[in-house]
Amino acid sequence: MGYDYLKQVEYLNSLGLVDKNGQKIQYYDAFYGMKIEFLFEEPFQSYQEYINRAEKKYGFTPTLLAFIHNGNINAFAWKSNSLIGINAGTIIQMSELFSGVDYKTLMKGELESFHILDKVGQEGFLEKMYKYCQMFTFFHELGHIIQDDLRGISHFSEMVNCGSYSQEVHLMEYDADQYAAIQIANHINQWMESLEGKLKQAYYKKEVAEMLLSTGVGAIFINYLIFQGRHDAFYTNSCSHPHPSIRATYIMNTIVDAFKSGNKGGFDIDANSVFRNGFILTERVINDAHPRGVVFKNGDEFSRFFEIWEANQKEILEYVNVLKAMALETDGLAVEKYNGRIK
Ligand SMILES: [Zn+2]
Repeated sequence: MGYDYLKQVEYLNSLGLVDKNGQKIQYYDAFYGMKIEFLFEEPFQSYQEYINRAEKKYGFTPTLLAFIHNGNINAFAWKSNSLIGINAGTIIQMSELFSGVDYKTLMKGELESFHILDKVGQEGFLEKMYKYCQMFTFFHELGHIIQDDLRGISHFSEMVNCGSYSQEVHLMEYDADQYAAIQIANHINQWMESLEGKLKQAYYKKEVAEMLLSTGVGAIFINYLIFQGRHDAFYTNSCSHPHPSIRATYIMNTIVDAFKSGNKGGFDIDANSVFRNGFILTERVINDAHPRGVVFKNGDEFSRFFEIWEANQKEILEYVNVLKAMALETDGLAVEKYNGRIK
């Protein structure tokens, strides 16, 4: 294997970093030799490689990825200490969520055609969706590392905290979300372009691209719901992150637009069908997995989310426009760097 996780953890331990509560950060490395090793080792290798490539492109301080010894869902980017941390609980709980889904129920009715995605490559459909969900967490953190510090803010924790709000932080969360959605779209494009021969004949199609995009949209929605915890009330100027209904709204368009701009096949993507199926996937994954009580212990989180989304359309769109306008006026954001508008 390319990167040595245990060596990284040893080095990080020698730094003795402490969290906000003054507790020494505990890194998680007990997965080696256990059945769950693949859940950690594979993403570690590929994410550390993404970080190192981004480091060459954007020129930030060498940054390490580590899993944190904590069973709760959370992830953080700590720019001043050049560290991306993902709680072990995030990996394990997300994996349990997706492995708990009844595949047949998921694929019935309007999603029947998605079954073809189960047959291609080494991963089944649910494994692909899990991977997108996990990738979104990682690329969001990488986006924070690529961003310049606005007013010296250099630590981002992703579990939504409603005790703190700042407009700058909302903007930086928006930017990290945009960056991550673009990376998921790129990943889908690269996969489609890598197809050859018979596989290309069967899968290099607009319909397949739309299914993959719906899978990406669903994975991102689930990610938001997981990190948000409860979200009964709609808000704009509150909490550490924009409300998930706002994040869902801007992300849908970003992922489709990013895919279209990179797509060499000129597919005429039907965005509405992508969004509709993304919603259905989200609802089914959450509701089918929910009886097992893995993540959503508070009832039907998706219906509540959807009601809020429908009831606040006007405010949601207004706030999305506020964030967009702020992003255009601000230098040093990850997406701006990605687009090469500044050095
Ligand atoms: Zn963030």
